Amino acid sequence: MLRVQKASQRALSRRLRLGQAARRGLATPSEPYDAVIIGGGPGGYVAAIKAAQQGLRTACIEKRGALGGTCLNVGCIPSKAMLNNSHIYHQTQHDLQRRGIDVSGVSLNLPQMLKAKEDAVTGLTKGIEILFRQNKVDYIKGTASFVSPTRLSVQLNEGGETEVDAKNIIIATGSEVAPFPGGSIQIDEEQIVSSTGALSLKQVPEKMVVIGGGVIGLELGSVWSRLGAQVTVVEFLGAIGGAGIDEEIAKQFQRSLGKQGLKFMLNTKVVSAEKKDGKVYIKTESAKGGKEEEIEADVVLVSVGRRPNIDGLNLDKIGVEVDPKGRVVIDDQFNTTVQGVKCIGDVTFGPMLAHKAEEEGIAAVEYIKSGHGHVNYQAIPSVVYTHPEVAWVGKTEQELKSAGVQYKIGKFPFAANSRAKTNLDTEGIVKIITEKETDRVLGVHIMGPNAGEMISEGVLAVEYGASAEDIARTCHAHPTLSEAFKEAAMAAYDKAIHF
Ligand SMILES: Cc1cc2nc3c(=O)[nH]c(=O)nc-3n(C[C@H](O)[C@H](O)[C@H](O)COP(=O)(O)OP(=O)(O)OC[C@H]3O[C@@H](n4cnc5c(N)ncnc54)[C@H](O)[C@@H]3O)c2cc1C
Repeated sequence: MLRVQKASQRALSRRLRLGQAARRGLATPSEPYDAVIIGGGPGGYVAAIKAAQQGLRTACIEKRGALGGTCLNVGCIPSKAMLNNSHIYHQTQHDLQRRGIDVSGVSLNLPQMLKAKEDAVTGLTKGIEILFRQNKVDYIKGTASFVSPTRLSVQLNEGGETEVDAKNIIIATGSEVAPFPGGSIQIDEEQIVSSTGALSLKQVPEKMVVIGGGVIGLELGSVWSRLGAQVTVVEFLGAIGGAGIDEEIAKQFQRSLGKQGLKFMLNTKVVSAEKKDGKVYIKTESAKGGKEEEIEADVVLVSVGRRPNIDGLNLDKIGVEVDPKGRVVIDDQFNTTVQGVKCIGDVTFGPMLAHKAEEEGIAAVEYIKSGHGHVNYQAIPSVVYTHPEVAWVGKTEQELKSAGVQYKIGKFPFAANSRAKTNLDTEGIVKIITEKETDRVLGVHIMGPNAGEMISEGVLAVEYGASAEDIARTCHAHPTLSEAFKEAAMAAYDKAIHF
């Protein structure tokens, strides 16, 4: 195995040297790859592995110095590490006694918690390097930009420049933190932080203000609230949870987080944030204008969204079109406006989610290889990894109402589920929405323990066009939380047994 790795590294070095030589005009350009992917995030690295598995000679160019993109380095993985461990800390302090477990001397070792997060990140990013070697993907560490639709220039991280030729190029350059609109708040990653800074605070702030009550703001607000901060979430809209959350669930979710100590200022616009004497003073006003307020914080998290990452790619040089929001324009087969150049993930349309990027990565490669691919955008789940978790797939009740679709709803509370009761973890519900005439599942919305795992059953139902009766007639193990899912389906189609 080691010999194979060394041989493939030698081959890559040789190709890169040839490329460098080519650039200096000393030799012919390197033999073109079948597929080159720009960006080693969940979209890019999955596309690269899939392409290699399909027999394509493949390279992946990544500038970060580590594979895994936003998700593994500063997104999904470190945030979930902090969510999991802060939950255990909080539970140990506030929930163990009633379970018959007496503990004393519990204290927070924040440096160790941050190290555990870093270890998880390093382990997983290194794991992708191993997968690259196993699948014979060439990993080029550097920053790519287009010279032509089939040629990339790469500024190598270790210095120097090379050129890489490819028959097919997939842009998977992801997204970056969006600055505060209007530029009135500058992120310094210490006192005024983005999600990246909020994953590595050196101490627990006494007061934290989160600007934006979407998924990232709620997850990271939860982390620091559990670790002891007084957290206030300021949200422009009238509900938390971001796009796609069902209104009924959003209200329950807000109540639940409120009980945990998070404060919410909804319908409120942040106007400015000024640093003074070690504090940050945040000016807000009512979203509809009028009522102004000033709140004080030790740390402010700006989580107002992310924007596509297209800087330096030279897209205009080769004629790749982007829309006014900077998203690369693609057709339904991931083709950009330039032949041979495809695009996937956060840098193009759709929800900015790792699993969406992965699905697109696989489908884009299948289009290259066979002309056929598949992503069902109606069946992409969303999860908020708080406690309780919130997860959904498909249509919300509001969407169906405004589209004039006749629907039925089946609900089942975890308070009536035997496993949730034995676990003393009963907050939340499963809500299944079906088409009235056909009983087909149109949407699933869950707030509750393990909602993020349970939603996969809803995704399968939507993907396969299942009816609530199909789910209701499928045997679910007892005692499990997923029986709540079955019972909600029973309630949609007929009647629940235990509620
Ligand atoms: C705090 C946080 C938590 C999140 N949690 C979740 C979650 O729980 N679940 C979920 O599904 N999603 C989550 N996300 C979103 C998720 O991280 C993204 O949707 C996902 O990473 C997008 O994948 P991608 O491959 O499109 O892009 P990215 O992961 O952004 O990767 C793109 C890569 O391209 C590289 N690159 C850019 N330009 C160049 C260039 N010119 N040359 C070479 N390399 C380049 C970048 O360095 C980057 O590594 C979270 C995001 C954040 C910030």
